[in-house]
Amino acid sequence: SSHIVICQEVKKYYGNFCALNDISLEFKRGTVTCVVGPSGSGKSTFLRTLNALEPIDAGEIFIDGIRLEHNAASARAIRKDVGMVFQNFNLFPHLSVRTNVTLAPVSALGLGRKEANSRAEQLLARVGLADQIDKYPGQLSGGQQQRVAIARALAMEPALMLFDEPTSALDPEMVSEVLVVMKELAESGMSMIVVTHEMGFAREVSDRVIMMNDGQVVVDLPPKEFFKPA
Ligand code: ADP
Ligand code: ADP
Repeated sequence: SSHIVICQEVKKYYGNFCALNDISLEFKRGTVTCVVGPSGSGKSTFLRTLNALEPIDAGEIFIDGIRLEHNAASARAIRKDVGMVFQNFNLFPHLSVRTNVTLAPVSALGLGRKEANSRAEQLLARVGLADQIDKYPGQLSGGQQQRVAIARALAMEPALMLFDEPTSALDPEMVSEVLVVMKELAESGMSMIVVTHEMGFAREVSDRVIMMNDGQVVVDLPPKEFFKPA
Protein backbone atom coordinates (compact mmCIF):
# COMPACT_ATOMS: atom_id res chain seq x y z
CA SER A 1 0.00 0.00 0.00
CA SER A 2 1.19 3.52 -0.72
CA HIS A 3 -0.36 4.56 2.60
CA ILE A 4 1.56 4.15 5.83
CA VAL A 5 -1.56 5.00 7.90
CA ILE A 6 -5.25 4.66 7.13
CA CYS A 7 -7.87 5.75 9.69
CA GLN A 8 -11.52 5.09 8.98
CA GLU A 9 -14.24 6.74 11.06
CA VAL A 10 -12.20 6.56 14.24
CA LYS A 11 -13.94 7.51 17.48
CA LYS A 12 -12.41 7.74 20.92
CA TYR A 13 -14.27 8.47 24.15
CA TYR A 14 -13.05 9.26 27.64
CA GLY A 15 -16.22 8.34 29.52
CA ASN A 16 -18.95 10.34 27.80
CA PHE A 17 -16.49 12.84 26.37
CA CYS A 18 -15.78 12.38 22.67
CA ALA A 19 -12.04 13.12 22.16
CA LEU A 20 -11.91 11.89 18.53
CA ASN A 21 -15.10 12.36 16.58
CA ASP A 22 -15.05 10.41 13.34
CA ILE A 23 -11.49 10.80 12.08
CA SER A 24 -10.96 9.49 8.56
CA LEU A 25 -7.48 10.21 7.22
CA GLU A 26 -4.91 8.57 4.98
CA PHE A 27 -1.19 9.30 5.15
CA LYS A 28 1.13 8.53 2.23
CA ARG A 29 4.47 6.86 2.82
CA GLY A 30 7.45 9.17 2.95
CA THR A 31 5.42 12.26 3.78
CA VAL A 32 5.53 14.61 6.75
CA THR A 33 2.25 15.81 8.27
CA CYS A 34 2.05 18.44 10.98
CA VAL A 35 -0.98 18.37 13.28
CA VAL A 36 -1.90 21.68 14.87
CA GLY A 37 -4.84 23.00 16.87
CA PRO A 38 -5.80 24.32 20.29
CA SER A 39 -4.99 22.52 23.53
CA GLY A 40 -7.56 19.81 24.21
CA SER A 41 -8.53 19.39 20.54
CA GLY A 42 -7.44 15.73 20.46
CA LYS A 43 -4.01 15.94 18.80
CA SER A 44 -2.19 13.89 21.41
CA THR A 45 -5.04 11.38 21.65
CA PHE A 46 -4.93 10.93 17.88
CA LEU A 47 -1.18 10.20 17.90
CA ARG A 48 -1.56 7.84 20.82
CA THR A 49 -4.21 5.80 19.01
CA LEU A 50 -1.75 5.31 16.11
CA ASN A 51 0.78 3.80 18.51
CA ALA A 52 -1.83 1.65 20.28
CA LEU A 53 -1.29 3.62 23.49
CA GLU A 54 -5.02 4.42 23.46
CA PRO A 55 -7.63 1.90 22.30
CA ILE A 56 -10.28 3.30 19.97
CA ASP A 57 -14.03 2.87 20.46
CA ALA A 58 -15.12 2.75 16.83
CA GLY A 59 -13.62 2.68 13.36
CA GLU A 60 -10.45 1.11 12.05
CA ILE A 61 -6.75 1.92 11.93
CA PHE A 62 -4.28 0.32 9.53
CA ILE A 63 -0.56 0.91 10.07
CA ASP A 64 1.84 -0.22 7.36
CA GLY A 65 -0.94 -2.40 5.96
CA ILE A 66 -1.73 -4.12 9.27
CA ARG A 67 -5.08 -3.64 11.02
CA LEU A 68 -4.70 -2.58 14.62
CA GLU A 69 -6.64 -5.00 16.82
CA HIS A 70 -7.69 -4.51 20.43
CA ASN A 71 -5.19 -6.88 22.01
CA ALA A 72 -1.72 -6.79 23.51
CA ALA A 73 -0.07 -8.76 20.70
CA SER A 74 -1.35 -6.34 18.09
CA ALA A 75 -0.22 -3.36 20.16
CA ARG A 76 3.27 -4.88 20.53
CA ALA A 77 3.50 -5.55 16.80
CA ILE A 78 2.44 -2.01 15.94
CA ARG A 79 4.88 -0.43 18.40
CA LYS A 80 7.77 -2.27 16.76
CA ASP A 81 6.87 -0.50 13.54
CA VAL A 82 6.00 2.93 14.96
CA GLY A 83 8.51 5.10 16.79
CA MET A 84 7.25 7.78 19.14
CA VAL A 85 8.93 10.86 20.59
CA PHE A 86 7.26 12.59 23.53
CA GLN A 87 7.33 16.13 24.86
CA ASN A 88 9.30 15.10 27.97
CA PHE A 89 11.86 12.78 26.31
CA ASN A 90 10.87 9.79 28.52
CA LEU A 91 14.43 8.40 28.59
CA PHE A 92 15.33 5.81 31.21
CA PRO A 93 17.23 7.98 33.72
CA HIS A 94 19.19 5.13 35.32
CA LEU A 95 20.51 3.84 31.99
CA SER A 96 23.34 5.29 29.89
CA VAL A 97 22.59 6.90 26.56
CA ARG A 98 24.04 3.81 24.90
CA THR A 99 21.75 1.45 26.81
CA ASN A 100 18.72 3.68 26.26
CA VAL A 101 19.27 3.20 22.53
CA THR A 102 20.22 -0.51 22.53
CA LEU A 103 17.63 -1.78 25.03
CA ALA A 104 14.58 -2.22 22.78
CA PRO A 105 16.43 -3.59 19.74
CA VAL A 106 18.01 -6.26 21.97
CA SER A 107 14.88 -7.10 24.00
CA ALA A 108 12.13 -6.65 21.39
CA LEU A 109 13.94 -7.44 18.14
CA GLY A 110 16.44 -9.96 19.48
CA LEU A 111 19.34 -8.05 17.95
CA GLY A 112 22.80 -9.15 19.12
CA ARG A 113 24.60 -6.79 21.50
CA LYS A 114 27.35 -6.02 19.02
CA GLU A 115 24.92 -5.18 16.27
CA ALA A 116 22.69 -3.13 18.60
CA ASN A 117 25.74 -1.28 19.82
CA SER A 118 26.98 -0.38 16.36
CA ARG A 119 23.46 0.69 15.40
CA ALA A 120 23.37 2.94 18.49
CA GLU A 121 26.76 4.45 17.65
CA GLN A 122 25.65 5.22 14.09
CA LEU A 123 22.35 6.76 15.18
CA LEU A 124 23.92 8.84 17.95
CA ALA A 125 26.46 10.14 15.44
CA ARG A 126 23.60 10.99 13.11
CA VAL A 127 21.93 13.15 15.80
CA GLY A 128 25.26 14.74 16.72
CA LEU A 129 25.81 12.94 20.02
CA ALA A 130 28.59 10.45 19.29
CA ASP A 131 30.64 11.94 22.14
CA GLN A 132 27.81 11.62 24.71
CA ILE A 133 27.20 7.89 24.38
CA ASP A 134 28.46 6.94 27.84
CA LYS A 135 26.69 9.77 29.67
CA TYR A 136 23.40 9.46 31.55
CA PRO A 137 20.28 11.44 30.57
CA GLY A 138 20.57 13.71 33.61
CA GLN A 139 23.99 14.89 32.39
CA LEU A 140 22.57 16.11 29.08
CA SER A 141 20.67 19.24 28.09
CA GLY A 142 17.01 18.96 27.11
CA GLY A 143 17.89 19.31 23.44
CA GLN A 144 20.48 16.54 23.73
CA GLN A 145 18.02 14.29 25.60
CA GLN A 146 15.41 14.77 22.91
CA ARG A 147 17.95 13.87 20.22
CA VAL A 148 18.75 10.68 22.19
CA ALA A 149 15.00 9.96 22.28
CA ILE A 150 14.88 10.30 18.48
CA ALA A 151 17.88 7.97 18.10
CA ARG A 152 16.26 5.48 20.48
CA ALA A 153 13.06 5.44 18.42
CA LEU A 154 15.00 5.06 15.16
CA ALA A 155 16.96 2.10 16.56
CA MET A 156 13.84 -0.02 16.05
CA GLU A 157 13.94 0.89 12.34
CA PRO A 158 10.32 2.04 12.38
CA ALA A 159 8.28 2.61 9.24
CA LEU A 160 6.53 5.59 10.87
CA MET A 161 7.67 8.19 13.39
CA LEU A 162 5.23 10.08 15.63
CA PHE A 163 6.27 13.25 17.45
CA ASP A 164 4.09 14.72 20.21
CA GLU A 165 5.15 18.33 20.76
CA PRO A 166 8.83 17.34 20.67
CA THR A 167 10.16 20.86 21.30
CA SER A 168 7.52 22.21 23.71
CA ALA A 169 9.47 21.32 26.87
CA LEU A 170 12.78 22.74 25.60
CA ASP A 171 14.48 26.00 26.42
CA PRO A 172 14.17 28.22 23.34
CA GLU A 173 17.85 27.97 22.42
CA MET A 174 17.57 24.18 22.10
CA VAL A 175 14.53 24.04 19.84
CA SER A 176 16.41 24.38 16.57
CA GLU A 177 18.91 21.54 17.23
CA VAL A 178 15.96 19.16 17.54
CA LEU A 179 14.11 20.59 14.55
CA VAL A 180 17.27 20.24 12.42
CA VAL A 181 17.45 16.51 13.26
CA MET A 182 13.75 16.14 12.42
CA LYS A 183 14.22 17.98 9.13
CA GLU A 184 17.10 15.66 8.17
CA LEU A 185 14.92 12.68 9.04
CA ALA A 186 12.14 14.06 6.83
CA GLU A 187 14.61 14.54 3.99
CA SER A 188 15.75 10.93 4.38
CA GLY A 189 12.19 9.88 3.42
CA MET A 190 10.81 8.90 6.82
CA SER A 191 7.02 8.92 7.19
CA MET A 192 6.31 11.38 10.01
CA ILE A 193 3.30 12.78 11.88
CA VAL A 194 4.25 15.70 14.08
CA VAL A 195 2.04 17.45 16.64
CA THR A 196 3.67 20.85 17.01
CA HIS A 197 3.27 24.55 17.58
CA GLU A 198 6.38 25.23 15.46
CA MET A 199 4.77 26.91 12.47
CA GLY A 200 8.13 27.50 10.78
CA PHE A 201 8.77 23.75 10.75
CA ALA A 202 5.22 23.09 9.50
CA ARG A 203 5.62 25.64 6.70
CA GLU A 204 9.12 24.63 5.60
CA VAL A 205 9.32 20.89 6.22
CA SER A 206 5.82 19.40 6.08
CA ASP A 207 3.90 18.17 3.06
CA ARG A 208 0.57 18.66 4.78
CA VAL A 209 -0.92 20.54 7.71
CA ILE A 210 -3.95 19.22 9.58
CA MET A 211 -5.78 21.38 12.09
CA MET A 212 -7.92 19.74 14.74
CA ASN A 213 -10.66 21.28 16.83
CA ASP A 214 -13.02 19.50 19.26
CA GLY A 215 -11.87 16.06 18.14
CA GLN A 216 -12.39 16.71 14.46
CA VAL A 217 -10.22 17.58 11.47
CA VAL A 218 -11.23 21.11 10.47
CA VAL A 219 -8.45 21.98 7.99
CA ASP A 220 -6.30 19.64 5.86
CA LEU A 221 -4.09 21.47 3.36
CA PRO A 222 -0.59 21.61 1.89
CA PRO A 223 1.50 24.15 3.85
CA LYS A 224 1.55 26.62 0.95
CA GLU A 225 -2.22 26.94 1.15
CA PHE A 226 -2.48 26.57 4.90
CA PHE A 227 -0.14 29.50 5.45
CA LYS A 228 -1.39 31.64 2.55
CA PRO A 229 -2.15 35.15 3.80
CA ALA A 230 -5.93 35.66 3.95
P1 ADP B 1 -4.37 17.97 22.71
O1 ADP B 1 -3.24 17.03 22.47
O2 ADP B 1 -4.93 18.56 21.45
O3 ADP B 1 -4.07 19.01 23.74
P2 ADP B 1 -5.58 15.71 24.03
O4 ADP B 1 -5.68 14.65 23.02
O5 ADP B 1 -4.46 15.64 25.03
O6 ADP B 1 -5.58 17.12 23.28
O7 ADP B 1 -6.93 15.79 24.83
C1 ADP B 1 -8.17 15.92 24.19
C2 ADP B 1 -9.25 15.98 25.22
O8 ADP B 1 -9.37 14.71 25.85
C3 ADP B 1 -8.99 16.99 26.34
O9 ADP B 1 -10.21 17.57 26.70
C4 ADP B 1 -8.42 16.14 27.45
O10 ADP B 1 -8.69 16.70 28.72
C5 ADP B 1 -9.17 14.83 27.25
N1 ADP B 1 -8.37 13.69 27.69
C6 ADP B 1 -7.14 13.34 27.23
N2 ADP B 1 -6.71 12.23 27.84
C7 ADP B 1 -7.68 11.87 28.69
C8 ADP B 1 -7.83 10.78 29.61
N3 ADP B 1 -6.89 9.85 29.76
N4 ADP B 1 -8.98 10.74 30.34
C9 ADP B 1 -9.94 11.65 30.19
N5 ADP B 1 -9.86 12.70 29.35
C10 ADP B 1 -8.76 12.80 28.60
P1 ADP C 1 -0.92 16.75 26.41
O1 ADP C 1 0.14 17.70 26.89
O2 ADP C 1 -0.42 15.72 25.46
O3 ADP C 1 -2.18 17.42 25.94
P2 ADP C 1 -2.01 16.38 28.99
O4 ADP C 1 -1.01 17.14 29.82
O5 ADP C 1 -3.33 16.98 28.66
O6 ADP C 1 -1.31 15.86 27.66
O7 ADP C 1 -2.27 14.98 29.66
C1 ADP C 1 -1.23 14.23 30.26
C2 ADP C 1 -1.76 12.86 30.60
O8 ADP C 1 -2.97 12.95 31.35
C3 ADP C 1 -2.10 12.05 29.35
O9 ADP C 1 -1.68 10.73 29.58
C4 ADP C 1 -3.59 12.13 29.21
O10 ADP C 1 -4.11 10.92 28.67
C5 ADP C 1 -4.05 12.32 30.66
N1 ADP C 1 -5.20 13.23 30.73
C6 ADP C 1 -5.37 14.39 30.06
N2 ADP C 1 -6.55 14.94 30.35
C7 ADP C 1 -7.15 14.11 31.23
C8 ADP C 1 -8.40 14.13 31.92
N3 ADP C 1 -9.31 15.10 31.74
N4 ADP C 1 -8.68 13.10 32.77
C9 ADP C 1 -7.79 12.12 32.93
N5 ADP C 1 -6.60 12.05 32.32
C10 ADP C 1 -6.28 13.03 31.49
